[in-house]
Amino acid sequence: MTGTSGRSSLIGRNLLAGAEPDVAGDAGHQGHPPRAGFFTDTSVCIGCKACEVACKEWNAIPEDGLDFTGMSFDNTQGLGASTWRHVAFIEQNKPLGRTEVAVDHGDVDVLALASQGSGTPVEQAAITPTSPAPAPSQDGQTGLRWLMASDVCKHCTHAACLDVCPTGALFRTEFGTVVVQDDICNGCGYCVPACPYGVVDVRPEDGGAHKCTLCYDRLGAGQEPACAKACPTDSIQFGPLDELRERAAARVEELHRLGVEDARLYGHDPEDGVGGDGAFFLLLDEPEVYGLPPDPVVTTRDLPSMWRHAGAAALTLLGGVAAVFAAQAGVSGRRTGRRR
Ligand code: SF4
Ligand code: SF4
Repeated sequence: MTGTSGRSSLIGRNLLAGAEPDVAGDAGHQGHPPRAGFFTDTSVCIGCKACEVACKEWNAIPEDGLDFTGMSFDNTQGLGASTWRHVAFIEQNKPLGRTEVAVDHGDVDVLALASQGSGTPVEQAAITPTSPAPAPSQDGQTGLRWLMASDVCKHCTHAACLDVCPTGALFRTEFGTVVVQDDICNGCGYCVPACPYGVVDVRPEDGGAHKCTLCYDRLGAGQEPACAKACPTDSIQFGPLDELRERAAARVEELHRLGVEDARLYGHDPEDGVGGDGAFFLLLDEPEVYGLPPDPVVTTRDLPSMWRHAGAAALTLLGGVAAVFAAQAGVSGRRTGRRR
């Protein structure tokens, strides 16, 4: 749906919320390519941070502190003006769905195994003779697990950052993604509190707002974004959004079949509070565990009804003032008539 017929069907709709099948078309891009996005499957992320590095390198993003945070191997802490991909490390005293219960390593000759090096037979390589088996929990499961997830701008269907930008620096591309133009951004920072995910931020060094562009320059040249290209496990998958959604649904089904019951999708639903994300995720726990809002809503959703209410209030006020003037005019008219 593009062009005039698409735009005419927008009349009477709240354009700031709800399902939106053609974001690029509604932004005025005619004959645009299919909407592009990211599917980040956190179940295969190994926390190597190749995505963070590739993103920094390709986009020439400055270093923003490599501190010991005390949060496992997370030294970038969160998304920001100079961190457009952030790999979260979450340590949980919770087993994976397929953890083998109480494997006894008592008869394993660790030194003999080590001396075999990479020639360890497959059937023995599956054993991890590093520590005694932990005691099983009440449900018979054991283990400590690490959740790793590479977060990014969600390229929302309804992007409040874009709605509130007074200069037009934030715009919707022909791929349906959301990009900031550095030379137009005046650094007012309105977009920062507007984002329901806390993604976009102003960089103090240059006073401009920055965030992931989904490598707009690479897409224009027919290349995939740098993070997806660098990810060695295909945790970050790039492609047409519809295709990614189908792939993600099949992956969740597969994980459920394998016993990973906690697997769920986040940001994939076009009916959610932001109309679905252009960058969505497969998670292994509640979104809050990963620092993601459980039920994000586009912060400009209620603007149309607020304007309607403000207009109604202004009309009522004007009507009241007019009535007072009319009443006063009537009184002074009667007084003048009596004096005559
Ligand atoms: S996640 Fe935030 S910065 Fe990214 S498009 Fe949505 S509102 Fe804008
Ligand atoms: S998403 Fe891919 S590149 Fe990024 S940390 Fe995970 S495995 Fe590495």
